[in-house]
Amino acid sequence: LTETTPSRTQASALRDLARIVGELNVRVPPPTGHLRDATESRAIHGSALASVSPASTEEVSGVVRWCVRQGLAVVPRGGGTGYAAAAVPAGEAIVVCTDRLAGAGEVTPEAWRGTFPAGMTTSEVQRRCREAGLFFAPNPGSAESCFIGGNVATNAGGPRSFRYGQTRSWVTGLVVVLGDGRPVRLGGSARKNVETLDLVGLVCGSEGTLGVITEVTLRLQPAPEAELPLLALYADREAGLDALSSAMASGVVPAALEFLDGEALCAAAGTLPGGPAPDARFAVLAEALGSEATARFEASVLNEALAHGALSVRAPQVRRDVAALWRWRDGVSLAVTALRGGKLSEDITVPTERLGEALVAIDAIGLDAGVEVTSWGHAGDGNIHATVMVDHTNAAGLIAAEGAAHRFLEVPAKLGGAVSGEHGIGRVKLRAAATQLDRDVLAIQRAVKAVFDPSGMMNPWVKIPSGREGFAAGPGLTGGDPR
Ligand SMILES: Cc1cc2nc3c(=O)[nH]c(=O)nc-3n(C[C@H](O)[C@H](O)[C@H](O)COP(=O)(O)OP(=O)(O)OC[C@H]3O[C@@H](n4cnc5c(N)ncnc54)[C@H](O)[C@@H]3O)c2cc1C
Repeated sequence: LTETTPSRTQASALRDLARIVGELNVRVPPPTGHLRDATESRAIHGSALASVSPASTEEVSGVVRWCVRQGLAVVPRGGGTGYAAAAVPAGEAIVVCTDRLAGAGEVTPEAWRGTFPAGMTTSEVQRRCREAGLFFAPNPGSAESCFIGGNVATNAGGPRSFRYGQTRSWVTGLVVVLGDGRPVRLGGSARKNVETLDLVGLVCGSEGTLGVITEVTLRLQPAPEAELPLLALYADREAGLDALSSAMASGVVPAALEFLDGEALCAAAGTLPGGPAPDARFAVLAEALGSEATARFEASVLNEALAHGALSVRAPQVRRDVAALWRWRDGVSLAVTALRGGKLSEDITVPTERLGEALVAIDAIGLDAGVEVTSWGHAGDGNIHATVMVDHTNAAGLIAAEGAAHRFLEVPAKLGGAVSGEHGIGRVKLRAAATQLDRDVLAIQRAVKAVFDPSGMMNPWVKIPSGREGFAAGPGLTGGDPR
């Protein structure tokens, strides 16, 4: 057997899967790009027997039925932008890519509704909505690369989740291929529907553990006329936190209410719209959104609330400057990465009134571990991207950084929050979920999975702790859970 000769298992997988999806759409072995997601920067990668790209719900169903017969795990894959290694396969899994679940979708402007194939990128969904005068609010920073199916599977959020909720709030219907290969339609086009348990809600955020989503129906809104963000800069954290409280008490619900601490602000200082702010050690970014008149009124109320104790408030008015401010915000993560060449970033949540305590605790963990830390994120949702900056060439520093990142996950447990607010549990936070979640809650989750996925082959290493965490690492990943 040479490296280029497929094994008997590979050859039969290629033959059988090619009958379902066509030879060109089966890769044995899979390209390395299908064994990774955005945790690649943490040196996380997996293994799989093959990757396939079915083009319809029927083809997905055929692939899943074949996997169940062979006893092979199914790992659904969207854009591969996840931060939790939830699409990273292991062992002899079959990666089910959703990139060919494509097509135009259908937007019904008069009903404020859109139905889209799971493999459409989020930015394309947003574009199609905009063209029809409609608005899909969830705006993850990865919108150009992630898929709407992946957004549903992770219940993705973003800055505008504060007013408009996470992806779940917009989904009325799904087509899902269950773990035994049966396609089901959950929910539908109606905006209100309580005829069943919230089965759509169960699938949102299930990280590929309950089935493969092939189609998504969204309830939309008319596109807002005006977007008016405000960037307020403060000399210290205390002044910034006071201003956040004033914004929350102002009576206006901003579309977004974001924050950056001093280190994140320094990292992104080079491109700060409106020029440098050397004295600023905390920033608040809020956004008023709506009709021209409403947005202007709300922006003036927010401006007054945020100006209290601020060094300055920057309020771009023209479309180009508004876009530049959001581009800058989207670039914060990359700017922080660029400081030392790498970063370990968590997405913990705490009750909003405990944001200050959480930021103090994160800084204390960094000091204690001797590593550089920074935080930014969605203040209105108490969602913090607690981050350690790392230099991958420094092995000792990497170990200290992993230790600090792990301790970040203890902060929400102490303050009444959650280990993940948007990126998910995946494989990287499975052990934290196993230790922090109530045993009865874990048992309910396992029972729900068994109903959707009787053979247990749908993405078996992620999201739902099996109860055996900590005994062995999943193939190719420290801390995984091979069950
Ligand atoms: C630069 C950057 C910025 C980001 N910003 C944000 C942000 O603002 N908010 C946020 O929430 N996240 C953010 N993320 C994380 C990531 O983009 C989201 O979690 C996104 O929703 C993942 O979608 P995806 O299509 O890339 O899914 P993948 O990474 O491919 O998969 C993620 C999970 O979903 C499952 N899955 C994917 N498609 C399907 C399907 N069709 N059926 C069933 N299961 C499926 C996979 O099995 C896996 O468990 C960011 C990531 C990057 C790299």
